[in-house]
Amino acid sequence: MPTPAPTPTATPTTTPPATAGDNRPPSHLFYQARQRRPMATRAEGIYIWDEHGRRVIDGSSGAMVVNIGHGNRRVLDAMKRQMDQATFIYRLHFENAPAEDLAAALAARCPAGLDRVFFVSGGSEAVESCLKLARQHAVATGQGSRYKVISRFPSYHGSTMGALSVTGHAAFTTPFAPMMHESPKIAAPTAYLDRDGLDMAARGRRYADMLDEEIRRQGPETVLAFIMEPIGGASTGALVAPDSYYPRIREICDRHGVLLIHDEVMCGAGRTGRYLGGDHWGITPDLIALSKGLGAGYAPLGAMIASEKLVRPVLDAGGFQHGFTYAGNPLAAAAGLAVLDEIDAHDLIGNAARMGDLLKSRLDALKRRFPFIGDVRGRGLLLAVEFVSDPETMATLPRALNAHARMVDLAFDRGLILYSRRTRGGIDGDHVLVCPPMIVTEAQIDEIMAIFTDTLEALARELSLPWSA
Ligand code: PLP
Repeated sequence: MPTPAPTPTATPTTTPPATAGDNRPPSHLFYQARQRRPMATRAEGIYIWDEHGRRVIDGSSGAMVVNIGHGNRRVLDAMKRQMDQATFIYRLHFENAPAEDLAAALAARCPAGLDRVFFVSGGSEAVESCLKLARQHAVATGQGSRYKVISRFPSYHGSTMGALSVTGHAAFTTPFAPMMHESPKIAAPTAYLDRDGLDMAARGRRYADMLDEEIRRQGPETVLAFIMEPIGGASTGALVAPDSYYPRIREICDRHGVLLIHDEVMCGAGRTGRYLGGDHWGITPDLIALSKGLGAGYAPLGAMIASEKLVRPVLDAGGFQHGFTYAGNPLAAAAGLAVLDEIDAHDLIGNAARMGDLLKSRLDALKRRFPFIGDVRGRGLLLAVEFVSDPETMATLPRALNAHARMVDLAFDRGLILYSRRTRGGIDGDHVLVCPPMIVTEAQIDEIMAIFTDTLEALARELSLPWSA
């Protein structure tokens, strides 16, 4: 069973807020934001401790990465064994057993036919690899006119220039627009927002048909691929399309000879209660990008998975002109293999499905007390809660309230890490993601819910939002 919870060394609510300023000297490091963060000193299971002994629940598994929890013995031991043998073997000089075995294990988990694996070190690299293999396949098969990759708005596919060009998120892309290849976008299937009298199946088909229209508008002979997240990540807040959407998208891609790329970077590797997000609908894409939960925070690891049909012409035409130095290194692969073993040994995918259902129903129940919760969505342990000013119309909260970020800060101060964004559909909206590791227990769900509820009360008081005791 999952690792038992370690005894807390401090009560989260009695310690000083972790987001408060401190007197540390200036740092040489910088990331996106100005704000300094507390120094982490230890992590185990679903918990992280800071230098003051304060414990927080990793309610977002980092950035939906640490799927099997922190400090897992099986993975650490496997990595130590591999470190004693070799930490780096360059893939153009030797093959190595962990990379071979992990590729075979992934092929066994992917839909039939998707059995060629190309390792990378992260999600953006996995997406870049899919875009470049798709293009090289087109060139190798006499379809050189195909180069456009259609994606959705909003969406997030990574921060490197290629992955960014298919990302639908103005804040990330605008500064780089002149440097990027423009790629067409269609609306993400935010069917839950529509007030059109149609049933969900009809809405799903309508959103899928936007792809057909866009391919025709662009000229089918110019369109290379369509990339989508089967279950949305941070950009849409765990967006799930109506069931009718998925097969229709596959059908439209087939009709126009357009490759279907599933970006499974966040929703893949078991978090949603199936190994792949696309497995919920039995869809076989042409290419899969996988990362995050694959190395589960133990090693930077990602993969592109493709069919032999796609790979063979590229190899026959002289090879895949692409690769990263750290790709396929044995240490990361050994970690990835042990992560899969741990998932299987404890049925963590089943646990993600069961605990996800429990957590979702508990979050749903909060709508009665907090009418500013407009939607609770997602699958398994990839869940999001959206805040609105009116649950009937789903009108957004005023941007100036910054509700999603306040929720994250107030939760952190109470000992719970959440993840948030202000995006949805064409308009922006507030959502927070609740995505604990797949090892989470029922008692820990109680713990998460207690802090989440207390935080909602604090948020409602602070922003004068409606709630009842
Ligand atoms: N694709 C999706 C769906 C993601 O959620 C992310 C990261 O959040 C990426 C790609 C990029 O992954 P990375 O940050 O590992 O490069």
